[in-house]
Amino acid sequence: MPVRLILVGPPGVGKGTQSALIENRLGPKPLSSGVIFRAEIDAQTDLGELAKSYIDRGELVPNGVTIQMMLKRIRTSEVQQRGFILDGFPRTVRQAEALDEELKKAQIELDAVVSLEVEDAVIIERLSGRLGCTKCGAIYHRINKPPKRDGFCDNCNSPVIIREDDNPETIRERLRVFRENTAPVVDHYATQGKLIRVEASRDPEVVYSEIKDKLIQ
Ligand SMILES: [Zn+2]
Repeated sequence: MPVRLILVGPPGVGKGTQSALIENRLGPKPLSSGVIFRAEIDAQTDLGELAKSYIDRGELVPNGVTIQMMLKRIRTSEVQQRGFILDGFPRTVRQAEALDEELKKAQIELDAVVSLEVEDAVIIERLSGRLGCTKCGAIYHRINKPPKRDGFCDNCNSPVIIREDDNPETIRERLRVFRENTAPVVDHYATQGKLIRVEASRDPEVVYSEIKDKLIQ
């Protein structure tokens, strides 16, 4: 049976790692809204051109357009067979409601919404330890993956610095925005009985096993 799920979690929680583990072992195809947007725009499809017209005017792409793009992928025969992992969508309750309606029309049942949960302090520690190379973009971590020579990139010897996005203040703001938008989405799926909450500060393999066990129940 294809697995169909939505993965939600704050920046730095390890969504990419879990998405890859789930894809490799259970088969569903990750569908990232950002990647799909770019692909549609690059391919100059009708939906891509429509989305671009909003982006070019500095406006938000309407929910309807975003959902049609996601559904177009969900309806491909590959995704029908493999299932999917939605990442970065839905971001709001309105989007979630619209997605529910479209999935129902297409007779596609969502298996679960997996919420990866970690305390803010842990995320701040993880992300604020990141160091980026000023030249080649290589990423290090002060504790988990320090460069061999303190302060300089292993690849190109350029200085490594904390990126603007990874300042503790910026991270706190990103977390605040995430919680404000996403908490209602999580509640929305909890009332449908589809929510799986997983404590995600542990080893990625342990987190994956718990997701798998709860999915199969
Ligand atoms: Zn470098």
